[in-house]
Parts: sequence; C-alpha cells; structure tokens
Amino acid sequence: MSTFLLEIVTPERKVYAEEADMIVVKGVAGELGILPNHIPLVTPLKIAPVKIKKGNSTELIAVNGGFMEVRKDKVVILAESAELPADIDVERARSAKERAEKRLGGSKQDELDFRRAEMALQRALNRLDVAGK
Ligand code: ATP
Repeated sequence: MSTFLLEIVTPERKVYAEEADMIVVKGVAGELGILPNHIPLVTPLKIAPVKIKKGNSTELIAVNGGFMEVRKDKVVILAESAELPADIDVERARSAKERAEKRLGGSKQDELDFRRAEMALQRALNRLDVAGK
C-alpha cells in the first residue's frame, strides 16, 4: 500500500513528520478521510484529534484548530497548537477545563469572553481525549 507524508506544524515547532497510510480529520463540514493521491484541497479544521493510520497502528494527535492543506506530494496541517499524547500535561488540561467551565457557568459576560472560554474548553477536552483521560 502506498503512503504519503504528513506534516503537522505549529507556529512554535514541527510536531510531526511521518509517512501515513491514511488520516482522518475533522473539517468544518465533517469528518474527512485522506488517502494517498487525494485531490488537492484546503480546509479549516475543528479542534479535534487527528487520527493517523500506518500499518496496524493508529496514532492520535490533539490538533487545536488550524488548516489542512492536501498537496500532490504531501499533507500539511498548520495548527494553532498540536500535541502528541506523550506531550500532553493532563493536570494542565484538567485545570484549563475547570477554568473554562467556571467562566461558562458564571454570571453574564461579553460574547467574546464566552467564545474564548468555549474554545479553551474544547482544547482542554481535546487534550484529555487524546491523552486517554
Ligand atoms: P492553558 O490555558 O493551559 O495555557 P491553552 O489551551 O490556552 O491552555 P494553547 O494556547 O492552546 O493553550 O497552547 C499554548 C502552548 O502550550 C502550546 O505550545 C501548546 O502545545 C501548549 N499546551 C497547552 N496546554 C497543554 C497541555 N495540557 N499539555 C501540553 N502542552 C500544552
């Protein structure tokens, strides 16, 4: 079976660069499975795990929003932040989750703060999911 190069890059670092058989991402319009020789495409991504299949193994990466660009020769995910399971600080994600939940449950606040807390909650849940917690 053929493979393609998957790169996951954040403003801070290159998180991932490996050959993959298939990836499954959550685009704004729903789940997308990408196989080798997929037509070129660019799509925004939701805050969600990216599933990477290679041989018999499946890896999960917490991708916290960004874009996926499917090119002829490779797939590039430009993420706002992204972590491998082993790099996730579970305690930090738990505190971020609690903080966000408190804000969302608190007294009235402006819409921007609410939206920010919702996004922070999604990032925390994504990290806990990928870390298996
Ligand atoms: P926090 O409120 O804990 O800072 P956040 O969602 O606001 O979380 P981001 O702005 O998404 O954090 O990320 C800032 C940097 O910190 C990125 O490099 C990201 O990979 C890293 N990071 C954030 N949370 C965690 C975590 N729980 N474990 C490991 N790295 C994390």
